[in-house]
Amino acid sequence: MTYVIAQPCVDVKDKACIEECPVDCIYEGQRSLYIHPDECVDCGACEPVCPVEAIFYEDDTPEEWKDYYKANVEFFDDLGSPGGASKLGLIERDHPVIAALPPQAAE
Ligand code: SF4
Ligand code: SF4
Repeated sequence: MTYVIAQPCVDVKDKACIEECPVDCIYEGQRSLYIHPDECVDCGACEPVCPVEAIFYEDDTPEEWKDYYKANVEFFDDLGSPGGASKLGLIERDHPVIAALPPQAAE
């Protein structure tokens, strides 16, 4: 089990969650952030600080955003387990589910 970042983060990325994570497992992609499924220790600290309520416990992810579980997992397919997001900084790509979205900027 892990926490998942869903659609509300896309094009928002205010990064409040990063500061709360004790294990530095929230990674920054081009348009969204991603929680590393193996590095996350399920502490839940990130979830309440997200201003747009983008973070969900895996089982509580709303049905419409179930794909985001896969997106958070598959984003790391070729990164493996880097063991810390801050040393990588911005990763200039997104999972295809997110890359395919139209701009999500606030209206
Ligand atoms: S706090 Fe929410 S919107 Fe901000 S980066 Fe984290 S998941 Fe995205
Ligand atoms: S649940 Fe805890 S360990 Fe997992 S991403 Fe959120 S703050 Fe980090």
